[in-house]
Amino acid sequence: MFCSTMSRVEDKHLIGRLNERLSNSGFRFTPQRQHVYAVLSRSGDHPTAEEMFIRAKQEMPDISMATVYNCLDALVKSGLAKQVMVERGAIRFCPNMTAHSHFYCDSCQGIFDIEVPVADGWQLPKGYEAERFDLTIHGRCPECNSWKR
Ligand SMILES: [Zn+2]
Ligand SMILES: [Zn+2]
Repeated sequence: MFCSTMSRVEDKHLIGRLNERLSNSGFRFTPQRQHVYAVLSRSGDHPTAEEMFIRAKQEMPDISMATVYNCLDALVKSGLAKQVMVERGAIRFCPNMTAHSHFYCDSCQGIFDIEVPVADGWQLPKGYEAERFDLTIHGRCPECNSWKR
């Protein structure tokens, strides 16, 4: 399930941002990192590292699993992607760096980005200060829900 409106590898803006972020974090810009970033950016379904490997391989057949892991690690450390963890199953990756929460469908294991108004309104106990938000909502996605009706 690819998001076709997202930029392709050739997108200058995408490459510029990637280059800047990588070098700010002490990583080198490589064609493999560029490719993995482009593939993740157009994946709207929070792929696992393994799924990323399969997708990256389609256009770059000689890329290795280790390289894909390395690239994903560099993207996460540069703040270009984040890891999404749900209690069972492999770590998944999300290229959406705007504030959002994840909806995890217990039926199809899909992970969906949900816009949730963040932080300010939440009353935390005294002495706790929120820095970031990592909320996963569990339930059924609209598609899985439609089977019940
Ligand atoms: Zn996400
Ligand atoms: Zn579902």
